[in-house]
Amino acid sequence: MSVRYSFELFPPRDAASSGRVESAVDAFIALDPEFVSVTFGAGGSSTHHSLAVLQRLLDGGQSPMAHLTCVGLEVHETARLVRQFLDAGITKFLALRGDEPRDPAQRPRTTLSSAAELVQLIERVESERVPYAETPLPGLRASSIGERRASAEIAVAAFPNGHPGSGIHRSDVDALLAKQSAGATMAITQLFFDPYDYVRFVELARAKGVTIPIVPGVVIPTTLRRLVRSAELAGERVPRVLADRLEAAATPADAVRIGVDATIAQISALEEHDVDAVHLYTFNDHRPAVDVLAGVGAIPAHAG
Ligand code: FAD
Repeated sequence: MSVRYSFELFPPRDAASSGRVESAVDAFIALDPEFVSVTFGAGGSSTHHSLAVLQRLLDGGQSPMAHLTCVGLEVHETARLVRQFLDAGITKFLALRGDEPRDPAQRPRTTLSSAAELVQLIERVESERVPYAETPLPGLRASSIGERRASAEIAVAAFPNGHPGSGIHRSDVDALLAKQSAGATMAITQLFFDPYDYVRFVELARAKGVTIPIVPGVVIPTTLRRLVRSAELAGERVPRVLADRLEAAATPADAVRIGVDATIAQISALEEHDVDAVHLYTFNDHRPAVDVLAGVGAIPAHAG
């Protein structure tokens, strides 16, 4: 069976990049993925732009996934955002903690402190229809298991090589377990370069009781800069051989080919370990994503 696929897009930052996002949205709608996820700027900075991309996907008959982060916002502000996204027709979320604002003065008093708490908040806002706009929340339940289950699907992040702030793997599995207990139904991983890092993490997670699907997040390194930047963001070591090959590429098109081939090899290796779905970090560049999917036989060679 061929691998199932989903894509990540980020909202355009300016008019120049919005054409690229629109092309990617249209190309992805035509490929009928599991879902397209749309990233969210820290502190709600991209709300308007994220919703515009999500709306275009909804209009195209998709059920897109909205990333949401909670740090840097008061709890009632996060609740209001959740309500805004629900009212726009979003039923899939990727609940994230996000990164703390650097300036301590910008850290609000009542902010949620983990993705697990945001999972609970999304469920609560959806199922209780509380008018949060004016009311700070008194506190969140310890667990929502066995209680009224909301219909929103809530994914969370997982870190095969550890969250940069955590140090050891085990706490990342504990964090994932906490997110599952809070009601998450799927995890998407941070990017990694060695398929065995993913396989080992999943084995550890299963041994500790994580049962939800853990979908590997896969980056397509079409330039040396993208490879290095992605590795930095994820706290990963840059794979030297791939970096050397990208650096030696004769033309940008050759570099794209090298990145696409490396990603095809990575997904094929994952498939050998029974992985049946991948989430592609596309950087709003749909062509390499289409080539990767054609290369692994997930779509016909002429699609896209
Ligand atoms: P959490 O999982 O809540 O916490 C991060 C780490 O803290 C854990 O992995 C663990 O090491 C530790 N921890 C937390 N709770 C526990 C616990 N109960 N027990 C033990 N350890 C614990 N950022 C954005 O700003 N916008 C985006 O759109 C965005 N999209 C992303 C998509 C994906 C797939 C990924 C992997 C990351 C994304 N990020 C995004 C980055 C993310 O916000 C950062 O990685 C942030 O630092 C952590 O968020 P989190 O949801 O993983 O937090």
